[in-house]
Amino acid sequence: MQPWQIISDLESNSGRLDKERIVREAWQQGCTEFFEGAKLAYDALVTFGVKKAPLIEGEDDPNFPATLTWDRFKAVLERLRSRELTGHEARDVLLSASNTATVAEWNGWYRRILLKDLKCGITETTINKVLDEFGPAAAHHKIPVFSCQLAKNGEDHPRKIAGYKYLDVKLDGVRILTVIDVEAKTVTQYSRDGRQNDRFTDITTVLASMIPQLKQSIVLDGEMISRSFQDLMRQLNRKEDVDTSDARLALFDIIPLADFRAGECLLPQVDRHELLVGMLPTIQAACGDRVYVIPKMMVDLATPEGQQQFTEFNRNTVEAGYEGIMIKDPLATYRTKRTDAWLKIKPFITVDLEVVGVEPGKPESKFNHTLGGLLCRGTDQGKSIEVMVGGGYTEELRDEIWNNRDTVIGRTVEIKGDALTRAQDGDTWSLRFPVFMGFRDDKQAEQA
Ligand code: AMP
Repeated sequence: MQPWQIISDLESNSGRLDKERIVREAWQQGCTEFFEGAKLAYDALVTFGVKKAPLIEGEDDPNFPATLTWDRFKAVLERLRSRELTGHEARDVLLSASNTATVAEWNGWYRRILLKDLKCGITETTINKVLDEFGPAAAHHKIPVFSCQLAKNGEDHPRKIAGYKYLDVKLDGVRILTVIDVEAKTVTQYSRDGRQNDRFTDITTVLASMIPQLKQSIVLDGEMISRSFQDLMRQLNRKEDVDTSDARLALFDIIPLADFRAGECLLPQVDRHELLVGMLPTIQAACGDRVYVIPKMMVDLATPEGQQQFTEFNRNTVEAGYEGIMIKDPLATYRTKRTDAWLKIKPFITVDLEVVGVEPGKPESKFNHTLGGLLCRGTDQGKSIEVMVGGGYTEELRDEIWNNRDTVIGRTVEIKGDALTRAQDGDTWSLRFPVFMGFRDDKQAEQA
């Protein structure tokens, strides 16, 4: 069974189980060439720099002597991968290679590898799943699946938000992983699921000018942002007339390419950040302000100062209009999967206000015999705030406050919310999603 016949079989069978059967039979029949080709086609980190590959028109002469072998083709692929072969020379070599293969071989197999799409309705998932059935013997044919470090929700891991932590703002853009390959002298950008992104050529071109100064191939992890996220998305979806001149690349990590491929970089976050910041002059000399490093702030959440810095960081982030905060473990390695080394949280504001009213629970609610909420008032940084705080109490605390409601008026409470919102009268403010954090009798709320 030849690989192009396998591809053609896969094309004419649309069912998932049929496709798996065909791949399984290919393995059982020892068609390793198919698996080698599939790996070259679907490993996102292998690129050939080929946008157009010749397509043979018409049919073969029955006596056509095809001489293109898999080994010969692989040698061409290697020269393309290392970019020893580029431009016109690459085009000429591919044209003459296509003249030594049959239509079925070239159009149905070799050409598809060059364009990195076998066009037969299978992905690396199907191939890897089948190869897994054959254990270690098939393991080296498995296709590396592109992945990157992802974050967990901080709300689900409150105990991890402790001790020394790095804080950085979570920007609202698109994740872009930039691979700078010093051997091939290429700069390639990927989305977080490994799709190549060719939209930001002005940025990749300037980044390429750094190659002579790099000792090893690296991955720069970051977020592509533009003045308007909507604008950026429109540009990403557009096929032609792409204008991404407004886009800037905000970097937050650096990983040696070999480690990224292997799935883990053992350098702790703190060292990676230092490395990235150390490269900043080189990056800026090449890219000006199109590429920058997101500042990280180290805090020790075990101390009151650290907690204070954390609260202020949150407030500043809310006020600046960011959608989130990233909390990163300074000692964690970079792993190409979702881990709690990175936590994302929605930024919050805390205010200290005075209790001015105690409201009973609504008659139809489960709190109908106890506390419904505390009406709180005060000023915070010149803003007059009034807010009804209905959540954040334990059931015991609700009862306790309700039973002692006369003594609660005038006490100071700490309240957390995710934004200050202006009330309809325009002069007073309220807090969105207010949550009771605790009585702060050590603090005097500012009088409204
Ligand atoms: P989410 O998509 O909600 O899982 O949040 C994680 C995403 O936030 C990442 O994949 C990045 O695209 C994005 N992001 C924005 N700013 C940062 C940052 N400073 N550090 C890490 N990820 C960030």
